[in-house]
Amino acid sequence: MVPEIIERVVFSTEDIAKRVGELGEQISQDYLDGAGRDPHRRPLLVVGLLKGALPFMADLTRRMHVPMEYDFMAVSSYQGRTSPGEVRILKDLDSPVGSRDLLIVEDIVDTGHTLEHILRRLRAREPASLKVCTLLDKPARRQVDVPVDYVGFTLEENLFVVGYGLDYAELYRNLPYIGAVKPEYILNHDRPGD
Ligand code: 5GP
Repeated sequence: MVPEIIERVVFSTEDIAKRVGELGEQISQDYLDGAGRDPHRRPLLVVGLLKGALPFMADLTRRMHVPMEYDFMAVSSYQGRTSPGEVRILKDLDSPVGSRDLLIVEDIVDTGHTLEHILRRLRAREPASLKVCTLLDKPARRQVDVPVDYVGFTLEENLFVVGYGLDYAELYRNLPYIGAVKPEYILNHDRPGD
């Protein structure tokens, strides 16, 4: 049953599975055509951004066919008046990334501040390559220009979406589809059901 907070399903479970399969194939081919041919290159390091990228990363990497390792980062965004867009690292990578090929897996790129901060931090560690794959992209809301190499779906409309990793007050991450939240829930910050 679709929860009360959802206005409509934007991307169904089937839409997501199909697109994730295509992305997995495309990314695998790109790595096999490039760094993947070098037998001395270390495996691709797939970096998931917690918590939202969890289901996407699990499904995407199972549709990829290149040697890989997993790591995770967790960040929190401050939306306060004094420091809009400031990003704090809650969990950093477990090991150094110098000379490694990195693929960042993100749930959604909105203003771009989160990704811009993470890219700046990781570039300073001089990886061999650094690419970004996001499940969703909201280009119309971008405030900083960030390079995104792979996009699952582009949201042209100004929707707030939940499901497949994306939350509303930490809820609904487990929905197997992506749904648009009703406008009345976006304006009012009360938790649904309260
Ligand atoms: P950015 O720094 O690009 O503005 O924000 C990225 C973060 O904002 C995402 O990782 C996500 O947590 C949150 N976000 C942006 N748009 C949405 C949305 O439509 N739904 C949900 N659930 N989170 C969003």
